[in-house]
Amino acid sequence: MKKIGILGGTFDPVHYGHIALAEDAVREAGLHEVVMIPARIQPFKQDRKYASGEDRFNMLALAAGKDDHITVSKYELEQESVSYTYLTLRHMQEFYGSDTRLYFITGTDSFLKIDTWMNAEELLTNYAFIIGTRPGYRQDEYRQALERITKTYGTEVISMHKTELDISATEIREKIAAGAPVDDLMPPEVLRYITEHGLYRV
Ligand code: ATP
Repeated sequence: MKKIGILGGTFDPVHYGHIALAEDAVREAGLHEVVMIPARIQPFKQDRKYASGEDRFNMLALAAGKDDHITVSKYELEQESVSYTYLTLRHMQEFYGSDTRLYFITGTDSFLKIDTWMNAEELLTNYAFIIGTRPGYRQDEYRQALERITKTYGTEVISMHKTELDISATEIREKIAAGAPVDDLMPPEVLRYITEHGLYRV
């Protein structure tokens, strides 16, 4: 059985927290590959604080360029409307075939909200999950959610307790707007792209 990880997000911009999450998942769960899928953001939400889908994809491609385990998919960017995770996973399952097990990778913050996602039951029943802890999460809250979900849906969940990287894209956008340094938060190729394209300067 082939194991493929799916890591969705806005990646606005991609940073070391995302890369570490993907690489840890490869090692921990023995994945063949992680596919990073930037989400389509509703066009009317895009002001200059945010980057376009094309820029977010380009930055991901630069970040994944040197990594044999990570690929980047345009699937959600190419959809007509904002894509739901269950639709993306249905597509990926069909694409890779029934001899592939899909592992949806998230940070603890996203996983704690999973019940509110469209067709959460389908997600939690049909796919495995890999959760990476993220600074600020409450362990008791996470444990309770995990227990409830695995009991209700029988979901296969792999919890990774790795070194936590206290990085968020929000922090990066704010720092760039304020002219503060961000070079230790993302790969140098990504920072170069941001500078060259004048992103996040507001
Ligand atoms: P923003 O600050 O704009 O909300 P973000 O940094 O949280 O962005 P997303 O693109 O929303 O980044 O994240 C995609 C996925 O990566 C989510 O599942 C999120 O939980 C996870 N993630 C992001 N940053 C980290 C981190 N530092 N450690 C672990 N997981 C992370």
